[in-house]
Amino acid sequence: MALGIPSTRTDRAQTVRDLLAAGDRSFSFEFMPPRNEAAERRLWDAIRRVEALDPNFVCMTYGAGGSSRGRTVNMVGRIATETTLTPVAHLTAVDHSVAELRNIIGQYADAGVRNVLAVRGDPPGDPMGAWVRHPDGVTYAYELVELIKGIGDFCVGVAAFPQMHPRSENWDDDIRHFVAKCRAGADYAITQMFFEVEDYLRLRDRVAEVGCVTPIIPEIMPVTNIRQLERFPQLSGSDFPEELKARFLAVADDPEAVRAVGIEHATAMSERLLAEGAPGLHFITLNHSTSTLEIYQNLGLHQR
Ligand code: FAD
Repeated sequence: MALGIPSTRTDRAQTVRDLLAAGDRSFSFEFMPPRNEAAERRLWDAIRRVEALDPNFVCMTYGAGGSSRGRTVNMVGRIATETTLTPVAHLTAVDHSVAELRNIIGQYADAGVRNVLAVRGDPPGDPMGAWVRHPDGVTYAYELVELIKGIGDFCVGVAAFPQMHPRSENWDDDIRHFVAKCRAGADYAITQMFFEVEDYLRLRDRVAEVGCVTPIIPEIMPVTNIRQLERFPQLSGSDFPEELKARFLAVADDPEAVRAVGIEHATAMSERLLAEGAPGLHFITLNHSTSTLEIYQNLGLHQR
């Protein structure tokens, strides 16, 4: 079903901030750093397919530790210089001193990257394990936002949680801390994955009620196989809706039918979110572009 939304792309080097300030809706995709050479070849294939759609930006996530971090920096630099895409580099505070964080931000600046998504990150191994601050590092995402903003004219995004951050004790605290990130200079937010539009609308309304107008872009993640019903709650720290789960379980023996339900649900969510005035859509690809491209096309967001 076509929504007739024209391509909003005008300037490849623009920031997400400028794009949203112009009132344009943003359409974007998220990738992860590849684990090895074969994975990198598959990732480039997905990147080239996404590039043909002319999205407003693409994100590259940043690992909780180890060698994947260097691959994020490398991939972001290559996307900036070897493609027509605008990369948004994720950065986390896990196990980094402020000096190291400054160095990474400097590498992004050298590669001409002006868009960074600042998240605190989770402890490696156990996302709900004790958070241990690097002795010369920072504790919360708002401090990372302040650091990046203090270094140069970066456009900085932050994370938002439609079902509340799993570490937050109540909604009031959660919203207060989210708003603190915005007041520290965040230009926009991207949500954690979620599966019920009402969760996004509730978060948006709560943030608006306390006078915060930072745009919140919803993240869309289609379920493409039955194992993800278990995996997504672990990744997001929130529950999978029972009614939707039952729809998947009813066709659990038929992988194509599971995928079809996942794409249909993600398409319907996307249509409703846009109708409700969401400032854009951010698609998780897991480095496989096929399902997200299908949703993109269902929405009438055609190739250029
Ligand atoms: P914060 O905003 O610091 O919040 C963490 C918790 O601390 C919350 O409960 C908050 O309410 C609380 N809090 C905040 N400030 C204070 C304060 N002053 N006093 C007391 N409590 C406070 N992880 C990765 O490792 N790599 C990635 O690339 C990555 N990308 C992501 C992209 C998106 C769009 C999202 C939604 C998440 C991403 N994550 C990534 C996961 C993220 O790192 C975790 O969800 C992390 O637990 C939360 O990060 P945050 O930036 O929201 O933290």
